[in-house]
Amino acid sequence: MDLFSALYAIEFCSLASGSSGNCYYVGHHDGALLIDAGISLRRIEKSLRAFGRDVHNVKGVLLTHNHIDHIAGLELLAEKYTFNIYASRQVAEAMREYYDQDRRLVQALVEVVPGKSFVTAGFSVTAFEVDHDAPGTLGFHVRNSNTSLAIATDLGHIGRFAHALLPLAEVLILEANYDSLMLETGPYPPYLRHRISSNSGHLGNHQAAEFVARHCRTRLKHLFLAHLSKENNHPEKVTEAFESAFEKFKFSRSRLETLVCLDRTKRSGLYRF
Ligand SMILES: [Zn+2]
Ligand SMILES: [Zn+2]
Repeated sequence: MDLFSALYAIEFCSLASGSSGNCYYVGHHDGALLIDAGISLRRIEKSLRAFGRDVHNVKGVLLTHNHIDHIAGLELLAEKYTFNIYASRQVAEAMREYYDQDRRLVQALVEVVPGKSFVTAGFSVTAFEVDHDAPGTLGFHVRNSNTSLAIATDLGHIGRFAHALLPLAEVLILEANYDSLMLETGPYPPYLRHRISSNSGHLGNHQAAEFVARHCRTRLKHLFLAHLSKENNHPEKVTEAFESAFEKFKFSRSRLETLVCLDRTKRSGLYRF
């Protein structure tokens, strides 16, 4: 890493990734962001402390949507620390309705317009709409002068906005929620299986793998697979799906410096790009 890159490197850590909680740390020299806050305040504080970072440095929380696995720790976090919460109009409205108006969480809400960039914590951020069974669900493209990172963790399919923005990132955090056969033969009732595999549910291994192999061929260097299902997936299944898509579409695995399945409950290492 040269001096410029070292100075302006983006740091990334997954604190938790999956249906029992989602929270990601993205920092650089100018401040830090959290993407979602679906684990407890205590766990967020402890996790950041473990790699020498502080929640006081967090200037914004980018909120993908208001399912509980993405907001469980947000209210207490907002009571204790000062930051903006960036969310879509639909998610902001739903949260204003649900929480008392005098809560700091409500006062911290900032509505973002998909496709229109804004600056927070020294990052330029563009939100984009994805299809999921919570109205106003977003993915984010986060950039500084050194590199860019995109995240989409709850989406039933790769719609046109995700399709346009995800390939622009050098660092991609993409949902790989289920293995089709495990979902089909697993413990879930038919209505739930249908919900998950529908266009407004979650992204399967095969969909994520095929998209990356076909469309992320120029910039992508670091790939993190996220929001794996406990019941319907296994990291080995994710790896199999990617290996097979890489072979099918002649994507050279060696061009990726990082290919990691994020753990559902354990914090990842702190990566610097
Ligand atoms: Zn989720
Ligand atoms: Zn969700």
